[in-house]
Amino acid sequence: MGIVVREYECGCRITSDKNYPSIKYCPKHKSAPDLCEALEGLLDWYDDLTLNNPDLESPIFWNPAIKALRKAGRKPKSHLM
Ligand SMILES: [Zn+2]
Repeated sequence: MGIVVREYECGCRITSDKNYPSIKYCPKHKSAPDLCEALEGLLDWYDDLTLNNPDLESPIFWNPAIKALRKAGRKPKSHLM
């Protein structure tokens, strides 16, 4: 439990219990690792799809997805880049 030392707008909270700090993530930030994995899976799937369908263009979400993954410290790979 502990004392709430700081609460962010998103809902993430830093708490302190007997001077031992910990972070309680909001749902969005708690799910961030899963979202990264899911997004990488989608990009891989689309990447494979374009290998057999070269006429397919990058979807509108492509660049924002690549940018978001890089922001998260991931290194997305694709033959489309
Ligand atoms: Zn948060």
